[in-house]
Amino acid sequence: MIRLFAALDALGAMRFIGEVERGGDCGCVCPECGSPLVARQGSAYDWHFAHEAAHERPGCDAGALRMLRRLIIEHLQEQVRVGALVLPAYRETVALQGSLVHLREQVQWGAQPMGEWQWRVDAEQDGPVARARLDTGVDVRLDVRTVETASSQDLPPAGDQGDTSARLVFQCRVPPVQALRERAQAVQHLQTHGELVWAHHPDTLGLVQAARQRLAERGRKIYGNWLSMVDAQRQAVADAAAPAVPLFYGPAAPASPERAGVHACAPLHAANATFTFYRLNDQEAWLLYLLERVGPSDWRTAQQKFYALAPFPGPFEGWSQALPPAVGQADEAAGIVRLHGFLDAVTYLSRRAHTTRSSRNPADFDGL
Ligand SMILES: [Zn+2]
Repeated sequence: MIRLFAALDALGAMRFIGEVERGGDCGCVCPECGSPLVARQGSAYDWHFAHEAAHERPGCDAGALRMLRRLIIEHLQEQVRVGALVLPAYRETVALQGSLVHLREQVQWGAQPMGEWQWRVDAEQDGPVARARLDTGVDVRLDVRTVETASSQDLPPAGDQGDTSARLVFQCRVPPVQALRERAQAVQHLQTHGELVWAHHPDTLGLVQAARQRLAERGRKIYGNWLSMVDAQRQAVADAAAPAVPLFYGPAAPASPERAGVHACAPLHAANATFTFYRLNDQEAWLLYLLERVGPSDWRTAQQKFYALAPFPGPFEGWSQALPPAVGQADEAAGIVRLHGFLDAVTYLSRRAHTTRSSRNPADFDGL
């Protein structure tokens, strides 16, 4: 708590303790109650004003902070007068926090006052000291915040996100006693330690909204890719469990005698295939699976895999036209869509499906 380092002279101007006559000749009155003051200039580091005959009132304790606010206001007015009050760029971090992704983007824009600041020199402690119209089309209020320690200055002032006007704060550490003896030193302190920070600026330029949309789009992409990866890994595990294809010239391997049942709902499926089920809507559902290899295989084609989508549980109205050509080509005779690429199909379906399952037995999907 600082003591009364400045008071008002007969003309109502601020006078610092180091700039007046000693004792009762200082000619100053209390900024709270108007009583005459004496200038105490005794011990080196504790110069201050006191009421005559030590008639201090509890309410007058607020005088020192009132004087500090007034000093700051006069300092800011002087900055405006010489054109040195330049507002910093407004910055806001937009974040998207999901189950899989935590994305951030920082947006910023410039905003400067148009025309004059309207000052309120006698504003109450938590009221704004000035208002202006910004070139971003909104009004701004300027608050003053003095803090006791440097660390509390690091905390950003709380802004109200729903507010339609902007809010700017000049914040500064309370000057040490030795810097409060004369105006020049006190102003020096404000110049060194004071800073303008934004508490809030409404999104009048739409930049925050645009950033939110970009993050949402990135989130959807990451999520879609993740689903594709999960499916691809599942398929790879299933394929690895399937019998190896001969790698060299020669007749195709004979069908394994203990081959598991053939599923009629998945025409031409490979032995031991894993089926992935995608339900898109009430009518449309698909099975994704590996096709049985046909024709001779040699070392050039042995690693190639062909996939299909079959309408499930059987062909539905318009199934052959239901998927975009980029996903695959309908083979109406076989009753399947032959895929151009596995990942394209998975990406397409993952984004649209509301139910997805994987199983070696398509009967598990009945009723889904
Ligand atoms: Zn007083």
